[in-house]
Amino acid sequence: MSTTMQEYIDEAEKALLHTYNRYQVVFEKGEGVYLYDIEGKKYLDFVSGIAVFALGYHNREYDDALKEQIDKIIHTSNYYYNLPAIEAAKKLKEISGMDRVFFTNSGAEAIEGAIKTARKYAYLKDGTTDHEIIAMNHSFHGRTMGALSVTGNPHYREAFEPMIGNVRFADLNDFESVEAQVTDKTCAILFETVQGEGGIYPATEEFMRKVRDLCDARDILLILDEIQCGMGRTGTMYAWQRFGIKPDVMTTAKALGCGVPVGAFLMTEKVGANSLAAGDHGTTYGGNPLACAAICKVLALFEKEDVLANVERTGAYLGRCLDELVQEFDCVKERRGVGLLQGLVFDRPVGNIITRAMDQGLVLINAGTDIIRFVPPLVIQEKHVDDMMVILRECIKEAEGEQK
Ligand SMILES: *Cc1c(COP(=O)(O)O)cnc(C)c1O
Repeated sequence: MSTTMQEYIDEAEKALLHTYNRYQVVFEKGEGVYLYDIEGKKYLDFVSGIAVFALGYHNREYDDALKEQIDKIIHTSNYYYNLPAIEAAKKLKEISGMDRVFFTNSGAEAIEGAIKTARKYAYLKDGTTDHEIIAMNHSFHGRTMGALSVTGNPHYREAFEPMIGNVRFADLNDFESVEAQVTDKTCAILFETVQGEGGIYPATEEFMRKVRDLCDARDILLILDEIQCGMGRTGTMYAWQRFGIKPDVMTTAKALGCGVPVGAFLMTEKVGANSLAAGDHGTTYGGNPLACAAICKVLALFEKEDVLANVERTGAYLGRCLDELVQEFDCVKERRGVGLLQGLVFDRPVGNIITRAMDQGLVLINAGTDIIRFVPPLVIQEKHVDDMMVILRECIKEAEGEQK
């Protein structure tokens, strides 16, 4: 590594709070499915900023739309209307089938809003507080206090107790474990349609339907977190749309703005009319004209470039290729996932495989210690999968050799 890159990294480590163990690379620009570091080295990107840059880097139409909006206005306030937000909300309703939209700046904030929505809904029903939320083990919903409270990873929560309270945990795809946590105080059941950080566990159709029925029977809100698995990543705009059910509240972020920080929580008309009202919730930046211009262009480009069809095709291909690795290597145990949200489960930590891949110009990321997660740009092609496979195979071979 040249001194220059190392010098920048040293500077970073003096200034930034050390909340990440970062890979030893400084990225400077991107083009399509490739990233370039400050020394000009090219990397094939199978992370896309963790499921964010769905359209690939330096998409000209996207970039131009942002520039155009910057020349008009970047920010006003939610006390006024603005055209990009109106358009983005309308489009989000169309693609999701939900009725009401609140724009946030991040995924965690969308979760916060969903939690407040559920508590207010229950409060308006029975006039009491102390309502409970059922969340899942191995879930991830973000790092703010509310989002952390529903995140099923005790290690993330421990030092920050007390959490918001009245959260009970069950197991994804184990309906009885959910039922066992229901009380008269339950106001919401919350889970990711496909668990991301927790290890790429897709919810089953049977589980989704049973939870939906339970929620209907007891007027409990079903909240689906689509922050990672949504926005086309599994082949439908939102992952739950495969299952013939609909949530009462859902959250979306990550690829929604393709890099401009924006998220949203959405709800049905019924929930909208019976939960958060004027004065209950707010945000300075949320849904500002720049962020919403990004959403509008992202959704337009999804259609124009037929991103969903590409996910179906290339996702299936990626799945088949990863299945080959399960057959080929003893240390590769299993492949899990849907579309372009895939996980490869190893019998050992994957850190050194990922580092090795970086050296060879392939960007990968883990989910937990033993799983490599594949969340490439949604415009990735089969030939990129082939290129990825060449490097990955090599890196797994080396890792296996080392262990022996
Ligand atoms: C990333 C993520 C979040 C948190 O989003 P931030 O924008 O980082 O706050 C919440 N839920 C899921 C499923 C995520 O993948």
